[in-house]
Amino acid sequence: MTVPTHHTPRGFRNPWPDAEPKGLRDVIRWSIQRRRQTLAPDPAPGDFAVAAPLFEQRERSNVLGATWVGHSTVLLQIGSTNVLTDPIWSERASPVQFAGPKRFVAPAVDLDRLPPIDVVLISHNHYDHLDRWTIKQLARSQPNIHWIVPLRLAPLLSKWGAVSLRELDWWNDLRLDTPGGSIEIACVPAQHFSARGLGDRGRSLWGSWVIRGSGHAVYFAGDTAYHPEFAEIARRYGPFDLALLPIGAYEPRWFMRSVHMNPPEALRAYGELAAAGGAPPIMLPIHWGTFRLTDESMSQPPEWIQRLWREAGYDPRLLWMLRHGETRRLVESVTKEPNPR
Ligand code: ZN
Ligand code: ZN
Repeated sequence: MTVPTHHTPRGFRNPWPDAEPKGLRDVIRWSIQRRRQTLAPDPAPGDFAVAAPLFEQRERSNVLGATWVGHSTVLLQIGSTNVLTDPIWSERASPVQFAGPKRFVAPAVDLDRLPPIDVVLISHNHYDHLDRWTIKQLARSQPNIHWIVPLRLAPLLSKWGAVSLRELDWWNDLRLDTPGGSIEIACVPAQHFSARGLGDRGRSLWGSWVIRGSGHAVYFAGDTAYHPEFAEIARRYGPFDLALLPIGAYEPRWFMRSVHMNPPEALRAYGELAAAGGAPPIMLPIHWGTFRLTDESMSQPPEWIQRLWREAGYDPRLLWMLRHGETRRLVESVTKEPNPR
């Protein structure tokens, strides 16, 4: 069976049935609906626990470490290679800093306290994942970063000062030699969309990422709805040790289902990623607890995923429900072989 392509003459789209995100008319419908409803209150200060980060400058090769800075920003220490995902240190996920979704929890790691970063991965161009101020700061303070982005996103980062930039399409990969070691990075499908303004929807690609190095394999979903490719991603690039999956920003479902997973869908995606064989991966939930983007209460996603995890009978040690700033490590004693491709 040939899968329809995600390329279009003007940009990109989700190639699966019923995967088209809602348009402007539905944005208006949602905003009217919101005004008629009593939404769950914003979190109070202190609702989300913050931990002191405990990362090393560089880890040993048998260690896989993760520190949750907040939202989808994670410092991944894959052996001695340091990778940062969707970095945002700004106060608001917005084109302007006087309006738009604001942070309820400050970034749990100071930007100038980060260890040397070898690679930054960007999932797509939405403001809560691609932050101009943060990119500019990082490009200036850490000029040796390799920036890896989906197709047609490089010009924007280049304008903001990123130097070593590579674009990838879905199912493409590359190998990088970094001061922390050699790693392989693959761009894989996600169901989402791109836009930073009016009229630029779908012009640049969105995607999830796989990072493999020092015998570890990590999947970073970025921003995605549930889609049919998780098993195929695991078949080609798994088995994974760690899967970063978004669990927040899902209500109302009629609007958000085509762009964001809710906890049951994230758990289903996890199950399909785990089916590649090998020991089941650790799940690290992201995209919650930092910015309020949608209608559900901000405390609902972590409570819900933990309940579902228990009900599924999964090993509680495999769910890394991190506090903002928390560092966790997996120390591996055996070298695994990746799936043959
Ligand atoms: Zn997004
Ligand atoms: Zn997002």
